[in-house]
Amino acid sequence: MFKALKVRLYPNEQQKILLEKHFGACRFVYNHFLEVRTKYYAEHKNSKKKGLNAFDTINMLPQLKKEYVWLNEINSQSLQHSLIQLDKAFRAFFKHNADYPNFRSKKDNQYFIVPSGFRAINNRLIIPKFMEGIVYRDKSTIPEKIRQIIITKDVNRYYASIQYETDEELPKGVGTIGIDMGIKSFLTTSDGLQVEPLNVLKKMEKQLKRQQKKLSRKIKGSNNWRKQVVKVQKIYQHIRDARTDFNHKVSTAIAKHYGTVVIEDLNIQGMVRNHRIAKSMSDQGWYQFKQMLAYKLGWRRAELIEIGRFEPSSKMCSNCGNIKHDLKLSDRMYHCDVCGFSIDRDLNAAINILNMGMIKVGRGTPEFTPVESATAAELQSGGLRVDIL
Ligand SMILES: [Zn+2]
Repeated sequence: MFKALKVRLYPNEQQKILLEKHFGACRFVYNHFLEVRTKYYAEHKNSKKKGLNAFDTINMLPQLKKEYVWLNEINSQSLQHSLIQLDKAFRAFFKHNADYPNFRSKKDNQYFIVPSGFRAINNRLIIPKFMEGIVYRDKSTIPEKIRQIIITKDVNRYYASIQYETDEELPKGVGTIGIDMGIKSFLTTSDGLQVEPLNVLKKMEKQLKRQQKKLSRKIKGSNNWRKQVVKVQKIYQHIRDARTDFNHKVSTAIAKHYGTVVIEDLNIQGMVRNHRIAKSMSDQGWYQFKQMLAYKLGWRRAELIEIGRFEPSSKMCSNCGNIKHDLKLSDRMYHCDVCGFSIDRDLNAAINILNMGMIKVGRGTPEFTPVESATAAELQSGGLRVDIL
């Protein structure tokens, strides 16, 4: 099983310069060969060999290093790895899974990959070209079987994301639930657990707006403007950190306690385009949450069932199947006119999602396993607001 550990790095000034050079060089090599590959294809469309692959471009690297001598300062394996990344982008494009590869910009996420040659000694992470080691601070010990390390930068902070292999076996949870992702509540489970959204995000958003307004009043490019840009970036960073922490807590608690989870395959990109709900949706970082939940369930060999978005999940009565066409977004309770059933709107949807998932995999209604109170206690101890309906 592969896991990842993210540790914060504390490079000295000299190391910061070299890290920046690594980010820049990997981006430069990526962009250079994106152009080379595009040109080659245009000129060889009708030849036997239509395009270049990762190996072709890696073989062209030594020549490029003669032209741009500064590339020799950079770990050559990291440069090679940007060409493997570029190749992946091309292959995704050819499989029609992605758009044509884009040039990487300074504004994009800054990163480079270190595929081998790493060690950790006395709170120092040693990677090629940084043989004196970069100081890191983390409670966890650096694992032994490291697969690769990705060095990233977020505003003014540097991180190492260490991907490693572990033999550790995590137990599979026992419960079975459906999850309804919402706006008023972050999520509601079919066994009645409701996790409230993070308040802190709202507060930070107000702050963000204020600082952005200040930014708009400064002269672009001036010293004060630059200082204000950093201020704004730092608020974004706080929001990202808070959201990631929140998503980690919720996904861990669920993955620990449940062996089968049904969730709607939300077309989040499509939904984010719907402006009315776009803001609070992207705020809550559903996409990140789902990704975390998927890999954490995977660690435990637990099951994630995704069902297509089906309209009546909120409009259908989970008790008798009646569809209530006039259910409004503002109705927080679901009252069924046919069977008289009354239930929290999101809980009703979560039960429908669970039932749909069970039908999809050809199983009957699962036995109720009361683990929701253990999950709730765990979330509450992490400072989250949770209700049991
Ligand atoms: Zn009913």
